[in-house]
Amino acid sequence: MPCWIDTHCHLDAPELAAHRPAVRAAAAAAGVRLCVIPAVAQGNFEAVRAAACEGNDAYALGLHPLYVAQHGAAALEALEAALAAARGDARLVAIGEIGLDAFVPALRAPEVWQRQLEVLRAQLRLARRFALPVLLHTRRAVDAVLHELRRTPVPGGIAHAFSGSAPQAQAFLNMGFKLGFGGACTFPRATRLRQLAASLPAESIVMETDAPDIPPHWRYVDAAARAAGKVPPPNTPAELPRIGAEVAALRGVSAGEWARQSSANALAALPRLTPLLDAA
Ligand SMILES: [Zn+2]
Repeated sequence: MPCWIDTHCHLDAPELAAHRPAVRAAAAAAGVRLCVIPAVAQGNFEAVRAAACEGNDAYALGLHPLYVAQHGAAALEALEAALAAARGDARLVAIGEIGLDAFVPALRAPEVWQRQLEVLRAQLRLARRFALPVLLHTRRAVDAVLHELRRTPVPGGIAHAFSGSAPQAQAFLNMGFKLGFGGACTFPRATRLRQLAASLPAESIVMETDAPDIPPHWRYVDAAARAAGKVPPPNTPAELPRIGAEVAALRGVSAGEWARQSSANALAALPRLTPLLDAA
């Protein structure tokens, strides 16, 4: 069976946590060998570590820009302390999820944007100090994140849920990053993203679900159906092999070949996954 790695999966999220063993078992049955579980705020550092231990998976620690209002000096100090405490923990593979969000209007207010920048910069410095790659959130903020990476180079990582242009993709690749592709590229109308998924160098893409978010098109519930009372089911890591097969088809390779290639790319982006995969 092909071996897939879900490089971005919020298994501690409330939508999934209540029945996480079943969710993880379904993903394993579908061929997902490893999940990387990123943190979003100080309050879930312990939850992502516990979820990773429970499922034989990996985790990351970081402060997500959507929750910037919670990220005062104490949160950055807590992150630093948690990273120091996890130095010997093989399951800690990255700093994340960190980055910038210019999609949510309130987060673009000048003083909030400034705080987003400060929190990102502090975490990029921690990535250098702890020699860890980063998992980047770049929604509507790809150029701004690239600018920060040029100011503060880090040991690579993943531009998660990448949805930028070809030149922006190339800029990340030039800095040693991989690009995370998931459910968004399964939508027939996502022509630019599908074109990139088809044409980027084979070694540049890693696969992810971002569960419980970003459902693939076959699980999408549109606004009209939601208004009519249909509740969208949470996305889960078990969708990864089908999403991966879509990307494989776009690229004209077999699903098995793409599983092998995209998993090798994940190990290159997050080297600490290698011993975990050997043990999984
Ligand atoms: Zn995420």
